[in-house]
Amino acid sequence: MSDVLLEVNNLKKYFPIRSGVFQQTVGHVKAVDGISFKLKRGETIGLVGESGCGKSTVGRSIVRLHDITEGTIRFKGTDVHALPRNKLRKLRPKMQLVFQDPYSSLNPRIRIGEAIGEAVMDHGICRKSEVRERVREVLNICGLASYHIDRYPHEFSGGQRQRIGIARALILNPDFIVLDEPVSALDVSIQAQIINLLSDLQEIQDLTYLFISHDLSVVEHICTKVAVMYLGSMAEMASRDELFKNPLHPYTQALLSAIPIPDPTLRRERIVLQGDIPSPANPPFGCKFHTRCPQAIDKCKEVVPDFRHVGGDHYVACHIV
Ligand code: SF4
Repeated sequence: MSDVLLEVNNLKKYFPIRSGVFQQTVGHVKAVDGISFKLKRGETIGLVGESGCGKSTVGRSIVRLHDITEGTIRFKGTDVHALPRNKLRKLRPKMQLVFQDPYSSLNPRIRIGEAIGEAVMDHGICRKSEVRERVREVLNICGLASYHIDRYPHEFSGGQRQRIGIARALILNPDFIVLDEPVSALDVSIQAQIINLLSDLQEIQDLTYLFISHDLSVVEHICTKVAVMYLGSMAEMASRDELFKNPLHPYTQALLSAIPIPDPTLRRERIVLQGDIPSPANPPFGCKFHTRCPQAIDKCKEVVPDFRHVGGDHYVACHIV
């Protein structure tokens, strides 16, 4: 039996640009423009890239918070976007999403116990009389105390709120969690605690993660595989060790060169990219990165590079590799 849990094939998500009195569609923002990858059970793939590259749209499309424009997303062999609503409801507990700012998804007037418990009630996962006990159990697993169950969201710190966000996902016994910038808003010491918690939970509960982040140093700690996105397309994908040791795409090389080195005696030359990321409503012709690429050649302005297999588990979209 295949151990592939998630298979994303040629995923496209375009958002219409509307204008005029009749709100006619005058163009499209190509947030995600044909990406593919597979994820095995127990793996963690890091989806990295600058803000606006489409990584969050990928995560939301996978759990069907967005409808997609084209492509397929198969979870345990089931085409997620072809499912009717009643069947999707059964699948939802198995695919969860944790946001960067869990506070915004918590009602300030509802106690944490109710906020976490309402999902299990909704999906009929356990009996009403057992919900509080189950919530306490999950709070403890996520490093919170049983007495927190009766507190309100404003009584928690940023790190504790993120633990609540994780507990909300975990209580549904998911197989797969999309973690959308889960530690970006936290102090470095708290980031480490949350990363450790996620790693422990993954081992105990046999979880599979899609970890969305703009921070490669965080990704290096938790991911087994890394995919680099630029302007809605995949630039490079490889196992973590391969990508950090042997980055081939000029964009990946620039991102890696910006990671601070803790040892002050070591130096690394920083590759500074010129210009801003172009608009996904009007991406450059040819290789989308050519307007900022320090190694661009004439062909890059005219021909879109294929996302090619270059050996082992390494894939890259670049003419000069
Ligand atoms: Fe740079 Fe050309 Fe490679 Fe694109 S295809 S990354 S522009 S060298």
